[in-house]
Amino acid sequence: MKTFVLTIGDELLSGRTVDSNGAYIGKQLSGVGAPVKSRATVGDDVAHIGRVLLSALAEYDIVVITGGLGPTQDDVTVEAVAAALKVPLVTNDEVLSGIEARYREWNRPMPQAVTRMARMPEGTVVLENLWGTAPGMYLQADHCHMFLLPGVPREMQGILDESVVPIIKALPGLTPVHTRAIVTAGISESALAEKLADLMPPPGSPVKAAYLPGYGGVELRFSSIEDPEALDRLVDQVSERIGSHYIGDAAREDLVGHVARILVERNETIATAESCTGGLIGKLLTDRPGSSEYYLGGVVVYSNEIKEKLLGVPHVTLSQHGAVSAQTAEAMAAGARDRLKSTYAISVTGIAGPGGGTDEKPVGLVYLGLATGKGTFSREMRLTRDREQNRLRSAYAAIDFLRRKMEAHI
Ligand code: ATP
Ligand code: MG
Repeated sequence: MKTFVLTIGDELLSGRTVDSNGAYIGKQLSGVGAPVKSRATVGDDVAHIGRVLLSALAEYDIVVITGGLGPTQDDVTVEAVAAALKVPLVTNDEVLSGIEARYREWNRPMPQAVTRMARMPEGTVVLENLWGTAPGMYLQADHCHMFLLPGVPREMQGILDESVVPIIKALPGLTPVHTRAIVTAGISESALAEKLADLMPPPGSPVKAAYLPGYGGVELRFSSIEDPEALDRLVDQVSERIGSHYIGDAAREDLVGHVARILVERNETIATAESCTGGLIGKLLTDRPGSSEYYLGGVVVYSNEIKEKLLGVPHVTLSQHGAVSAQTAEAMAAGARDRLKSTYAISVTGIAGPGGGTDEKPVGLVYLGLATGKGTFSREMRLTRDREQNRLRSAYAAIDFLRRKMEAHI
């Protein structure tokens, strides 16, 4: 089964919107054995959409189109598809009354333009949109299964997962790909590659491997069409070799989820004291539901005065060693643990950049602090000149610092 994805919209071509829909569809469909072989982006132009669609229909089994299903004049996907397939556009009464009912519920007058969203090529099967107004559409033409989805990512994802994937899964001729992924932390892509060099399958092997670096760590992704046993064996070997950098199976948990699970299992809590990350660690720790079980809270302490006032960082520590120092990081963590009464506290202080660096303390210099029942600890990191990267890497590194100490029961 070969899939073609067509994303539609002038804003995708001009770069104002990044085509995240294409990426999401690629990910979901490779998982069900209908991998995306090619992808195109076309502007809001009826003739151009039609040309690309007709050439795709000749070559592919599945075509997924996103964008341009809305009510405005630049939403031309439905017209383009109907014209290319030479089928009339008809109004679907059920969809139309559903839209009217929504407006009655909202107690708002229905703009006439909205009725455009109930028009579809004759023979269309409607795919319900529980996340917005424009429905998804399923059509069959020339042995090709064609899906039209709205451009809004949340709506597209909902209809893809709930309606499109089940339809595709029931088609004959799928080539299921077995995949496994491992989450690592605290090791660079190149160091990991060196460590695993002799285990990794050479190109052309039945198992394929890929390194996907992210701010939280490198994810290792393995896939195989023919040999799931070899895949599992390799994942076991690699997991063992990774040692203390191993976090877990990506299907089950990531770094933050791993730390959260250990905290909950041990009935322990965490607090944060952040300077250059501005609350990012708190955000990462609270991104998941149920975080109040282990996260007590945190303070963002940017100025020296606030570090002293809110956390009791000694004035002399700041004047002798500076705000960006191991001593200040440790005092911040100790102060947060003491004042928020948590089992652990983590802190970050650093120079995120791009300005503010000196020869002695350059941009990218970051100290992580940790306070546990057994003492205070710190770690120096030398990162990049890029503010965004420095903040994200520091935040994840602080969480990994905690993980290592927790796993070592320190
Ligand atoms: P609407 O009913 O909102 O008009 P639509 O189906 O007509 O939906 P578009 O008008 O193409 O979709 O896009 C709606 C929103 O979704 C825009 O903010 C757009 O930037 C975003 N969007 C569209 N296509 C993509 C894509 N491929 N990836 C990410 N975002 C997208
Ligand atoms: Mg639109």
